Amino acid sequence: MHLAEHSWTDARDADTDLALLPVGSTEQHGPHAPLGVDFMSAAAIAEAAAEQFEDEHDQEVVVAPPIPVGIAEEHRAFDGTLWVTEDSFRAYVSDVLRSLAHSGFDRVVVVNGHGGNTGALFELCARATRDGDCYAVPFTWFDAVDSDLDLGHGGPVETSMLLAIDPDLVREDRYPEAAAGAGERFGVWAGSTNLAFDFDEFSESGNLKDPTPATKEEGERLLAASAAACVEVLEAVSDRER
Ligand SMILES: [Zn+2]
Repeated sequence: MHLAEHSWTDARDADTDLALLPVGSTEQHGPHAPLGVDFMSAAAIAEAAAEQFEDEHDQEVVVAPPIPVGIAEEHRAFDGTLWVTEDSFRAYVSDVLRSLAHSGFDRVVVVNGHGGNTGALFELCARATRDGDCYAVPFTWFDAVDSDLDLGHGGPVETSMLLAIDPDLVREDRYPEAAAGAGERFGVWAGSTNLAFDFDEFSESGNLKDPTPATKEEGERLLAASAAACVEVLEAVSDRER
């Protein structure tokens, strides 16, 4: 049940305490991929997971509208990137969790599509749970699935995912530009210490890894595998004693 597409009376009558909250980012992903990759991926995985869960169990799942801006200042050198501070993000997502709980949707899996959000999400989910607002856990899709392709950033894995979700948004004619300016590794390292704070310090085109090996088939496999992994978490969150 997509919250944004239903009325308040539908929400009142929904017989469930389960919700999925997609969270992402609006940030550069190289010249070939749109700025919305992270929240679009999170939203698509949440939608597929809710569908699968509802097919397998006799219970609805509320899918909240995606939160499209996250912690992404590291991409500020690339135009169009939007970000909020960690404090704003923690406060905002926590408020959204509390409002979901207020309607009775107080077992929540936060479906995350952006690496920069993970630390803050873990912290705010722990806070909301410890304070008794709701039971919330973060799920980051690319940590939950394996691929033979490189993850990178705007690399073959994310590009494959987008080819499965909305292929018109991928500019395959710009793969050579993306490949030429790609970073090979996240960060600039002195031993185990990362000396870099911003992405343009180690990638000229904004992406890490050449996106060329991306395929729609791999994207469809990743989407299904991510949804299945998310369903597993949702089942555990649904069953867990509080
Ligand atoms: Zn991304």
